[in-house]
Amino acid sequence: MYFPLCNTCGMQFASQTPVPASCPVCEDERQYVGWAGQAWTTHDALAKAHTLTLALAVLQIVRLLPQLVEIGIALTIVYVAAENLWTSSTSHRWLLTFGFGLVHGFGFANVLRELGLPSSGLARSLLSFNVGVEAGQIVIVGLMWPLLWWVSRQQWSSRFRVGVSILILLFGLAWFFERTSGVKLLPF
Ligand SMILES: [Zn+2]
Repeated sequence: MYFPLCNTCGMQFASQTPVPASCPVCEDERQYVGWAGQAWTTHDALAKAHTLTLALAVLQIVRLLPQLVEIGIALTIVYVAAENLWTSSTSHRWLLTFGFGLVHGFGFANVLRELGLPSSGLARSLLSFNVGVEAGQIVIVGLMWPLLWWVSRQQWSSRFRVGVSILILLFGLAWFFERTSGVKLLPF
Protein backbone atom coordinates (compact mmCIF):
# COMPACT_ATOMS: atom_id res chain seq x y z
CA MET A 1 0.00 0.00 0.00
CA TYR A 2 1.40 3.35 -1.03
CA PHE A 3 0.56 6.57 0.81
CA PRO A 4 1.38 9.76 -1.08
CA LEU A 5 3.87 12.25 0.32
CA CYS A 6 3.40 15.99 0.78
CA ASN A 7 5.12 17.77 -2.11
CA THR A 8 6.41 20.49 0.14
CA CYS A 9 7.68 18.85 3.33
CA GLY A 10 7.68 15.18 2.38
CA MET A 11 5.37 14.09 5.19
CA GLN A 12 3.35 10.98 4.38
CA PHE A 13 -0.43 11.38 4.21
CA ALA A 14 -2.55 9.05 6.33
CA SER A 15 -4.74 7.93 3.42
CA GLN A 16 -4.46 7.42 -0.32
CA THR A 17 -7.52 9.35 -1.43
CA PRO A 18 -8.37 12.07 -1.71
CA VAL A 19 -4.93 13.66 -1.71
CA PRO A 20 -5.28 17.01 0.10
CA ALA A 21 -3.79 20.15 -1.43
CA SER A 22 -1.39 20.47 1.49
CA CYS A 23 -0.58 18.47 4.60
CA PRO A 24 -1.51 19.66 8.12
CA VAL A 25 2.10 20.55 8.89
CA CYS A 26 2.40 22.78 5.82
CA GLU A 27 -1.05 24.25 6.41
CA ASP A 28 -0.01 25.17 9.98
CA GLU A 29 3.18 26.76 8.77
CA ARG A 30 1.37 28.72 6.06
CA GLN A 31 -1.08 30.10 8.63
CA TYR A 32 1.71 30.92 11.08
CA VAL A 33 3.70 32.84 8.46
CA GLY A 34 0.56 34.71 7.34
CA TRP A 35 -0.25 35.58 10.93
CA ALA A 36 3.29 36.77 11.69
CA GLY A 37 3.35 38.89 8.52
CA GLN A 38 0.09 40.56 9.47
CA ALA A 39 1.30 41.20 13.01
CA TRP A 40 4.46 42.79 11.64
CA THR A 41 2.49 45.06 9.27
CA THR A 42 0.28 46.09 12.18
CA HIS A 43 3.24 46.77 14.43
CA ASP A 44 4.92 48.77 11.68
CA ALA A 45 1.82 50.93 11.17
CA LEU A 46 1.64 51.57 14.91
CA ALA A 47 5.33 52.51 15.12
CA LYS A 48 5.18 54.91 12.17
CA ALA A 49 2.03 56.58 13.47
CA HIS A 50 3.22 57.16 17.02
CA THR A 51 6.64 58.31 15.85
CA LEU A 52 4.95 60.96 13.71
CA THR A 53 2.62 62.36 16.37
CA LEU A 54 5.23 62.07 19.15
CA ALA A 55 7.55 64.29 17.10
CA LEU A 56 4.74 66.74 16.23
CA ALA A 57 3.73 67.03 19.88
CA VAL A 58 7.21 67.29 21.41
CA LEU A 59 8.30 69.87 18.84
CA GLN A 60 5.04 71.69 19.69
CA ILE A 61 3.88 71.78 16.08
CA VAL A 62 0.59 70.29 17.27
CA ARG A 63 -0.78 70.88 20.77
CA LEU A 64 -3.58 68.83 22.29
CA LEU A 65 -4.96 68.85 25.82
CA PRO A 66 -3.51 65.83 27.67
CA GLN A 67 -6.99 65.03 28.95
CA LEU A 68 -8.36 64.80 25.40
CA VAL A 69 -5.52 62.49 24.42
CA GLU A 70 -6.23 60.23 27.41
CA ILE A 71 -9.91 60.06 26.47
CA GLY A 72 -8.93 59.27 22.88
CA ILE A 73 -6.67 56.42 24.03
CA ALA A 74 -9.45 54.99 26.20
CA LEU A 75 -11.81 55.09 23.21
CA THR A 76 -9.32 53.25 20.98
CA ILE A 77 -9.10 50.47 23.59
CA VAL A 78 -12.90 50.28 23.88
CA TYR A 79 -13.28 50.15 20.12
CA VAL A 80 -10.74 47.39 19.45
CA ALA A 81 -12.09 45.24 22.29
CA ALA A 82 -15.69 45.71 21.10
CA GLU A 83 -14.75 44.98 17.50
CA ASN A 84 -13.14 41.72 18.62
CA LEU A 85 -16.56 40.62 19.83
CA TRP A 86 -18.28 40.93 16.47
CA THR A 87 -15.54 40.19 13.96
CA SER A 88 -12.51 37.95 13.74
CA SER A 89 -11.35 39.55 10.48
CA THR A 90 -8.06 41.33 11.03
CA SER A 91 -7.15 42.32 7.47
CA HIS A 92 -8.01 46.01 8.03
CA ARG A 93 -6.32 46.14 11.43
CA TRP A 94 -3.14 47.81 10.21
CA LEU A 95 -5.13 50.83 9.01
CA LEU A 96 -7.09 51.03 12.26
CA THR A 97 -3.83 50.63 14.15
CA PHE A 98 -2.26 53.48 12.20
CA GLY A 99 -5.10 55.80 13.24
CA PHE A 100 -4.86 54.65 16.85
CA GLY A 101 -1.08 54.96 16.77
CA LEU A 102 -1.54 58.66 15.94
CA VAL A 103 -3.54 59.11 19.16
CA HIS A 104 -1.12 57.05 21.24
CA GLY A 105 1.86 59.12 20.00
CA PHE A 106 0.33 62.18 21.66
CA GLY A 107 0.01 60.11 24.82
CA PHE A 108 3.71 59.21 24.70
CA ALA A 109 4.49 62.90 24.30
CA ASN A 110 2.66 63.62 27.57
CA VAL A 111 4.59 60.85 29.32
CA LEU A 112 7.83 62.25 27.97
CA ARG A 113 6.88 65.74 29.14
CA GLU A 114 6.20 64.41 32.66
CA LEU A 115 9.58 62.67 32.67
CA GLY A 116 11.09 66.03 31.81
CA LEU A 117 12.54 67.04 28.47
CA PRO A 118 16.17 68.10 28.24
CA SER A 119 16.79 71.61 26.95
CA SER A 120 19.44 70.38 24.53
CA GLY A 121 19.66 67.23 22.40
CA LEU A 122 15.90 67.07 21.99
CA ALA A 123 16.04 65.10 18.74
CA ARG A 124 18.34 62.52 20.31
CA SER A 125 16.17 62.01 23.38
CA LEU A 126 13.09 61.75 21.16
CA LEU A 127 14.83 59.09 19.12
CA SER A 128 16.02 57.09 22.12
CA PHE A 129 12.59 57.27 23.76
CA ASN A 130 11.04 55.96 20.56
CA VAL A 131 13.61 53.18 20.25
CA GLY A 132 12.87 52.23 23.87
CA VAL A 133 9.12 52.06 23.21
CA GLU A 134 9.77 49.98 20.08
CA ALA A 135 12.07 47.58 21.91
CA GLY A 136 9.49 47.18 24.67
CA GLN A 137 6.78 46.34 22.16
CA ILE A 138 8.96 43.80 20.37
CA VAL A 139 9.88 42.09 23.65
CA ILE A 140 6.22 41.91 24.78
CA VAL A 141 5.00 40.61 21.41
CA GLY A 142 7.94 38.16 21.27
CA LEU A 143 7.00 36.74 24.68
CA MET A 144 3.27 36.63 23.99
CA TRP A 145 3.60 35.19 20.51
CA PRO A 146 4.17 31.48 21.24
CA LEU A 147 1.46 31.62 23.90
CA LEU A 148 -1.08 33.27 21.57
CA TRP A 149 -0.25 30.83 18.79
CA TRP A 150 -0.82 27.93 21.18
CA VAL A 151 -4.14 29.44 22.36
CA SER A 152 -5.30 29.90 18.76
CA ARG A 153 -4.89 26.12 18.22
CA GLN A 154 -7.17 25.23 21.13
CA GLN A 155 -10.86 24.40 20.89
CA TRP A 156 -11.69 27.06 23.46
CA SER A 157 -9.77 29.81 21.63
CA SER A 158 -12.87 31.70 20.48
CA ARG A 159 -14.35 31.67 24.00
CA PHE A 160 -10.98 32.82 25.30
CA ARG A 161 -10.94 35.68 22.78
CA VAL A 162 -14.43 36.78 23.81
CA GLY A 163 -13.52 36.61 27.52
CA VAL A 164 -10.33 38.64 27.13
CA SER A 165 -12.08 41.14 24.86
CA ILE A 166 -14.81 41.70 27.45
CA LEU A 167 -12.18 42.28 30.17
CA ILE A 168 -10.34 44.78 27.98
CA LEU A 169 -13.63 46.43 27.03
CA LEU A 170 -14.54 46.89 30.72
CA PHE A 171 -11.07 48.26 31.44
CA GLY A 172 -11.36 50.71 28.52
CA LEU A 173 -14.82 51.83 29.65
CA ALA A 174 -13.58 52.34 33.22
CA TRP A 175 -10.66 54.36 31.90
CA PHE A 176 -12.97 56.43 29.70
CA PHE A 177 -15.31 57.04 32.63
CA GLU A 178 -12.41 58.07 34.89
CA ARG A 179 -11.00 60.51 32.36
CA THR A 180 -14.34 62.12 31.54
CA SER A 181 -15.83 62.26 35.06
CA GLY A 182 -12.73 62.65 37.22
CA VAL A 183 -14.03 59.82 39.47
CA LYS A 184 -11.36 57.24 40.30
CA LEU A 185 -12.32 53.60 39.54
CA LEU A 186 -9.10 51.81 38.71
CA PRO A 187 -6.46 51.13 41.38
CA PHE A 188 -3.70 52.57 39.16
ZN1 LIG B 1 3.72 19.17 4.05
